[in-house]
Amino acid sequence: MYIRDTIAAVSTPPGSGGIGIIRVSGEMASGIGATIFKPVCNGGLESHRFCYGTIVDDLSGVTIDEAMAVIMRSPHSYTREDVLELHCHGGMLVVEQVLSLVLRAGARLADPGEFTRRAFLNGRIDLIQAEAVMDIIGAQTDAALQMAQRQRSGALSLRISETRDLLLHALALIEAYIDFPEDDLGTTDFSTISSLVCQASSLLNQLIAGFDEGRILREGISVLIIGKPNAGKSRLLNRLLNENRAIVTHIPGTTRDIIEETINLGGLAVRLLDTAGIRHTMDIIEQEGINRALEKIPQADLVLFVLDGSRPFDREDQLIIDALQGRSVIAVVNKSDIPCVIDLPDFFSTLPLLHISAETGEGVEFLKDSIRSCFISTHTLDNREFVALSRARHRDVLRSAESSLQRIIGALASACCLELLSIDLRDALAAVGSVTGQVTNDELLDHIFSSFCIGK
Ligand code: GDP
Repeated sequence: MYIRDTIAAVSTPPGSGGIGIIRVSGEMASGIGATIFKPVCNGGLESHRFCYGTIVDDLSGVTIDEAMAVIMRSPHSYTREDVLELHCHGGMLVVEQVLSLVLRAGARLADPGEFTRRAFLNGRIDLIQAEAVMDIIGAQTDAALQMAQRQRSGALSLRISETRDLLLHALALIEAYIDFPEDDLGTTDFSTISSLVCQASSLLNQLIAGFDEGRILREGISVLIIGKPNAGKSRLLNRLLNENRAIVTHIPGTTRDIIEETINLGGLAVRLLDTAGIRHTMDIIEQEGINRALEKIPQADLVLFVLDGSRPFDREDQLIIDALQGRSVIAVVNKSDIPCVIDLPDFFSTLPLLHISAETGEGVEFLKDSIRSCFISTHTLDNREFVALSRARHRDVLRSAESSLQRIIGALASACCLELLSIDLRDALAAVGSVTGQVTNDELLDHIFSSFCIGK
């Protein structure tokens, strides 16, 4: 059940800052504003107008801070309820004190994502748009941000609703014949239903096909840098990061733990993991680092296997090959600035292979492009209209809708029972509706909104 109490939270990040914003939503928002905010101008707060004044402890009369306040009256607000924002100085203590006054005046502390949940429950946005709000906050690259903005503005919701309309039309035709069985379902109607279902199926398939790129844009990828000691892994990490993050020395075995940094490769967020050099060692700390590196291989989206071109291929390189079977790998032959002596075995004939110098930077830009193009096309990155599924939840329910549609297409091709068709169509509609939240339940909403931050 949706309880219309009044919620409040600090909407700015924890810690000190220039300003801190306390947000309040619900029927008491306006009254709380009147209780603790004293405007310098005459009259109370006017909707959508900032007002300068002070925040005062209503019991002691003590002034807590000078502040700006704004009320956004229902329904023209983020939640569609009355929303009050108090912008005070961004010290941790002052923000906490203002929040305490708000809570004492009748609000309750909001749960994570509760403002956005109310925006959804009050019909201002659908579930895809609510999830997109979180993606906007978490976006790590321009491309991810653009995709999230498009989803928030409703571009993906529109595609889903086009599919729903086609299915509703097909269902209406089928149900008409179920209700009036004396009218036979003629060939023309069969082909209309079939065509509607096929169009819906094709829209769903396009969306499902875009999922991998959508997910990658939203979440980014992880790239593991692996190789024997002194191959130049840390130098390469520094080169990719454009900073001296990892220690580079000629002494083998310097990197003992995993170093992790994120870069933006032209729109793709890439988590780089530099690992301990793989070799046989008696040093237990180094061995632990090697174990950790090997354990990371199955989790990585891509492995950069760094080879030292200035030394012959040896047992240590072979150890790595054994661990890489079945993985996505780019072979990177490093030290192209000095004579190359390495002779690579057959294993490499099937891999993308690049020669670079981590020292001079030669070939590193090409390596960056190669990493990116393993996952995402430049067409997608440049396409400002790119609309894709980016969450496994969306993909899974649309896949289940698509299987229902395939059953319907199969049934339409043979003599079929209309009641069964109608059941499959209803299943497909329910699945499609659950993406936007037309069909939903509290458990799903709790799951989605619990990953939001408090105050959003
Ligand atoms: P790691 O053990 O694989 O992380 O290797 P490092 O990045 O620490 O490099 C080992 C040694 O190789 C250092 O002395 C680096 O200066 C040197 N090195 C790394 N990359 C290159 C390169 O491209 N060319 C040359 N000539 N030396 C390199």
